Amino acid sequence: MEPKLFIDGGWTDAADGGRIDVIDPASERVFAALAAGTSRDIGRAVDAAKRAGQGAWAHTTGRERAAILRAIAAGIDAEKDRLARLEVQDNGKPLAEAHGDIADTIYCFNLYATYAEGLDARQGETIVVPDDRFETRVKYVPTGVVGLIVPWNYPLLMAAWKVAPALAAGCTLVLKPSEFTSLTALELARICHEAGVPPGVVNVVTGLGRDAGAALSAHPDVRKLAFTGSVPTGIAVATAAAKDVKGLSLELGGKSPIVVFDDADLEQVVEWVMFGIFWNQGQVCSATSRLIAQSGIAGRLVERLAEEAGKIKIGDGMSDGVQLGPLVSRTQYDKVLDYIETGKREATLVSGGARPAGFNAGYFIEPTIFTGVSPDTRIWKEEIFGPVLSVAAFKTEDEALALANDSEFGLAAAVMTRDLDRARRVADRFEAGVVWINCSQPNFLEPPWGGMKKSGIGRELGTWGLMNFLEPKQITAYKSAEPWGWYLKSSTD
Ligand code: NAD
Repeated sequence: MEPKLFIDGGWTDAADGGRIDVIDPASERVFAALAAGTSRDIGRAVDAAKRAGQGAWAHTTGRERAAILRAIAAGIDAEKDRLARLEVQDNGKPLAEAHGDIADTIYCFNLYATYAEGLDARQGETIVVPDDRFETRVKYVPTGVVGLIVPWNYPLLMAAWKVAPALAAGCTLVLKPSEFTSLTALELARICHEAGVPPGVVNVVTGLGRDAGAALSAHPDVRKLAFTGSVPTGIAVATAAAKDVKGLSLELGGKSPIVVFDDADLEQVVEWVMFGIFWNQGQVCSATSRLIAQSGIAGRLVERLAEEAGKIKIGDGMSDGVQLGPLVSRTQYDKVLDYIETGKREATLVSGGARPAGFNAGYFIEPTIFTGVSPDTRIWKEEIFGPVLSVAAFKTEDEALALANDSEFGLAAAVMTRDLDRARRVADRFEAGVVWINCSQPNFLEPPWGGMKKSGIGRELGTWGLMNFLEPKQITAYKSAEPWGWYLKSSTD
């Protein structure tokens, strides 16, 4: 694939001619290049999106947009194997996980097709007001040009979580994928075009965050920013949004707890704890990276986790049966190893803690477990975003909740127990936008997704995701024949 941007329905070079190498994290070899878009390209893309928003697209019904969304889903489906492989080469994740991401992406476009149709039925819905001389209706109008900025951990899926609802709502968009993993976003641009998305409705500008991302955030014609990424970048995006009073949704980081009570089924706990921290190499915003285990089960649980972590098959995501691939980039690899070195000073290492033996290239790190982690340590408080689990023990339910909620983040939380009354009680008291009982990480696209505290603002997915890209407009009519009688008094007064 040539390093190009997708603007106004066609491929184009970056105005400044810059390029970014694309590196396979399993081999550290450069296998492609991206166009390094800058503010001039963002300007062209936003102009195209603005023009498209004033054209025929603005008059489409939800049903018409649904047909296009289903065609996009079908287009992705037709190329799912190739897209999954591209995702592995770009991101490093095991192929089976990439297949799961692509399946979710297809589901996402089909789901928002259904929501787009549902929107037609809600247009002009009556809101009952307590004065029958008035009739109030609500119409849902698209927000306009939206800027979508996504990270590298689920490249195509994170783009779909924003592109699908934005199109369902009737917005036009500029997507800025991560500079580490832009290839499937460019494929998505092509598939959208082939599916009948008019020129200018979907634009993809690759480039560095500080150039293309910052320019998109600051562009005055962008009416809403939907961002997924780290807290510091989220703050930069929110600051830019504030300057123009743009709409904003932020899906940021996490340091999510999984609380395990003594009565939980040990083998189930081992499975979900491992899935919660080693899936996608731990590069998951909602990863349950803090294990808070009751003292009666903690010792046996850590032993079993260490035993199973040692059996995880590490390797190139393309190889059969691999469960843990390389981290996405050299930067991420160095950052996680740095945290591991900090952890060795702060707590007790029971498993992993290094690059696996026999790997001479690639950003591989062993599944790593620390115990006896104190709540004032960096590995307990900060998001590592790698395959590193921190374990602490507790005695009482109150103590567990205090430990779980003592975090600047509030994305997700999990509780494992056979006592369902306790599970519900703990779930209610977790300060988190997503709570799992007797599991960790299963994610459906119909419920709301998002975090409390520094984990973000707003919710994605489900109909909440659709509302992110709509402006509800109130239309109130006075329908009485009687004069209102405030200024123009009747002659009998
Ligand atoms: P990041 O913040 O470094 O980058 C995210 C995106 O922002 C990239 O496209 C990047 O190019 C762009 N960017 C960077 N600087 C920018 C700037 N100044 N202005 C505008 N855009 C800029 O995050 P990352 O390392 O790609 O992703 C990892 C983070 O994402 C983690 O913190 C993770 O928890 C979070 N995340 C959250 C969710 C969620 O749903 N809450 C999902 C996935 C990832």
